Amino acid sequence: MSTTTTRTDTYLQQASDFSAHNYKPLPVVLERGEGCWVWDVEGKKYLDMLAAYSAVNQGHRHPRIIAAAKAQMDRITLTSRAFHNDQMGPFLERLCEVTGFEKALPMNTGAEAVETAIKMVRKWGYEVKGVPEGQAEIIVCSGNFHGRTTTIVSFSDDDQYRNGFGPFTPGFRIVPYGDAAAFEKAITPNTVGFLVEPVQGEGGVIVPVDGYLGCTRDLCREHGIAFMADEIQSGLGRTGRMFACDWEDVRPDVLIVGKALGGGVYPVSAAIADSEFMDVFHPGDHGSTFGGNPLGAAVGLASLDVLIEENLVEKSDTLGQWFRGELQKIESPHVKEVRGKGLMIGVEIKAESGPARPFCEALQLRGILAKETDRQVIRFAPPLVIRKETLEWVLGEVAEVLR
Ligand SMILES: *Cc1c(COP(=O)(O)O)cnc(C)c1O
Repeated sequence: MSTTTTRTDTYLQQASDFSAHNYKPLPVVLERGEGCWVWDVEGKKYLDMLAAYSAVNQGHRHPRIIAAAKAQMDRITLTSRAFHNDQMGPFLERLCEVTGFEKALPMNTGAEAVETAIKMVRKWGYEVKGVPEGQAEIIVCSGNFHGRTTTIVSFSDDDQYRNGFGPFTPGFRIVPYGDAAAFEKAITPNTVGFLVEPVQGEGGVIVPVDGYLGCTRDLCREHGIAFMADEIQSGLGRTGRMFACDWEDVRPDVLIVGKALGGGVYPVSAAIADSEFMDVFHPGDHGSTFGGNPLGAAVGLASLDVLIEENLVEKSDTLGQWFRGELQKIESPHVKEVRGKGLMIGVEIKAESGPARPFCEALQLRGILAKETDRQVIRFAPPLVIRKETLEWVLGEVAEVLR
């Protein structure tokens, strides 16, 4: 038995000794990345099939995004919103142009953008819809994941996200995901908003039945309810459309983006809406020290440009469709279902075959980094810059692991 300590062991030990144990990562320590490839501290090369939960859609260290970041770092990085900077305006104008909305409120992490949307819609509910103060209700879905703040975990139905973290923020109702009739039944005169992931990511890559988004969108319009789409993971090309809502031609009232908006370089998120909603905010109502900072804005603008100019959305669509089809052809006694949209793909492992984790560990040994989600699901969501040849190699490896 070997007693030598590898560099990997040292880093794993440090993470264990000096941080909270709030994650259970695969035992790989990465030190470099380029495109869809990453290298660990032992020099081993891996394909990144997680893309940091879709925050690296443009690939690791995309040259154009890195150049924009470096150039901006040589000018100015942070002004706070107490002053203006020359990067935020051009970035938000482009973001509005790409999304088709009038205004965008920049934040940093996804959870902050979700919180921003919740505050916006509650205030809109009181000021515009006329709901009595303190009575606003927001409908959310079972299996949701919208982040980790105390308010957001208040409306999770995952015990682990909530246990030990109460008391919780009131004002939320959970309805089954994908069930428009259940949504309609939960509506009350005090319902101000509906918060939904058009495809659930952390919930196990769940695609709702066709028509669900359109139907709930219509119900929201009918009842004066703000439709909030959390596209932090599903947006910016991941599902083969710029936004997953586009699959049903649904235009939300509030669009929430994050992750790939920062191109894997820097946290950039935003809540996006028309003036009717955005104008409820007045000076002092809401803010963030780093939100809209010039470094993040420069990175965000370059990240959008790369997605569009490199046709990554179309690539996600065609490659994803083909790859999903090939995965479905793999004959495996362990696979219950292969599902997804674009390059947001889940392979669900049968309960009797045990959890998905050992399959991910086997893939790691073969140089493919994928992470299980919701215990039974292997998620495949590589950077959208991935090549078909690379995915062909993945198929061979996945087939062997699944058989
Ligand atoms: C990742 C994610 C969030 C939270 O984003 P953070 O940047 O981790 O705060 C919210 N909603 C969805 C759908 C996500 O996938």
